Amino acid sequence: VADLLIHNIGLLATPRWKDRDERVRSVAKIPGAAILVQDGRLAEIGSEAEVIRRAPRDVPRFDANGALALPGLVDCHTHPVFVGNRAAEFHLRNAGKTYLEIAAAGGGIQTSAHKVKDAPVEQIIAESLPRFHRSLRGGVTTIEAKSGYGLEWEGERKLLNALLEIEQRIPQKLHRTFLIHHLPASFADRRARFVDQVVREMIPAVAGHKLASWVDVFCETGAFTVEESRRFLLAAKEHGLGRMVHANQFGHSGGALLAAEVTARSAHHLEHLNEAEMDAMSKAGVVAVALPASVFFLGNLPYPPVRKMIEHDLRVAIASDMNPGSSMTASLPFCLTAAAIYCKMSPAELLWSVTLDAARVLDAGENVGSLEVGKAADVSLWNIPDLESLSYHFGDVRAAAVLVNGEVVWEDGDASRRY
Ligand SMILES: [Zn+2]
Repeated sequence: VADLLIHNIGLLATPRWKDRDERVRSVAKIPGAAILVQDGRLAEIGSEAEVIRRAPRDVPRFDANGALALPGLVDCHTHPVFVGNRAAEFHLRNAGKTYLEIAAAGGGIQTSAHKVKDAPVEQIIAESLPRFHRSLRGGVTTIEAKSGYGLEWEGERKLLNALLEIEQRIPQKLHRTFLIHHLPASFADRRARFVDQVVREMIPAVAGHKLASWVDVFCETGAFTVEESRRFLLAAKEHGLGRMVHANQFGHSGGALLAAEVTARSAHHLEHLNEAEMDAMSKAGVVAVALPASVFFLGNLPYPPVRKMIEHDLRVAIASDMNPGSSMTASLPFCLTAAAIYCKMSPAELLWSVTLDAARVLDAGENVGSLEVGKAADVSLWNIPDLESLSYHFGDVRAAAVLVNGEVVWEDGDASRRY
């Protein structure tokens, strides 16, 4: 575990844990900063002269080259373990078919499920690993990853085992989620039987074998009803697993209200959200997760009403939703640009949405999500002059360097400076 002095930081910007319940999202900024890492944790943060004075003389140094230093980013909603792609479906949509029409005709999620069923676990790992590497290049040091393309237990278990193996091979901190995504085709006329199997066998097995620490359900027309989703989430609670919900993407599915009812940590998507739903979520402390890249990619949904969410005192996280059907990107910086334009979020709100508020979704805010003494030394460095520029440049933004637990795990070989 590393000791390191990161010096020559042009500007350091971070949210602070003590501000997590404040309504206004403020950001602490230190120009001309340095960071001392000891045992993989943040030991000193401050102006360069001050930190260097307190640092041991022989500590190895890393020159940030005038970069902007931010906390390592947190992507709190991804579906990165799948096989092949669904490019054909993307173009069908662009030719006029809807996501739900394609799913009803046996495409969509079922297409991915067939491919997962036929693939050996090594192939799943080999195809999925590069997605984690691309995410890392976008500054992400903590990532949530869901199963969900197996559908039947056999496939789901294979995906969760793939994630266990992937966790050993990537530098990021990984949070594994068992996603109850869609009724398998083989259960088309045995729906109740499948729901029972999830509750009585799958969720207990996930908890018993520690395959995941979170359970998520796609509560939506064409996927699972509120009643079914409630049973899943209550079973998750009973087995000590965290709870999150895919809610209100295509309409007022009841998912957001259900998330409040079962005190899920978070509700995700929320393209359709009214005042009563926002109030219920706010009262229950449910974090709202907006996925602007999926709205962009599907092309026919409204963006979630983030300004109204903030007025209703909701905490808002932004995530990539990386998946082959509705968001084929690992770039969290791209999501920030979409959230700036279409959700009207400020630079400070955007930073919180991919750091401390996203860490809150994963119950990880005490260890990651901000540059504060005592936390893990997860740092992203960017060749841009200020926080405002992070969402302003778009489409090809990568971190100049990324550190996890004080170790440099990614450096851009062509880190040309942006002004
Ligand atoms: Zn999703």
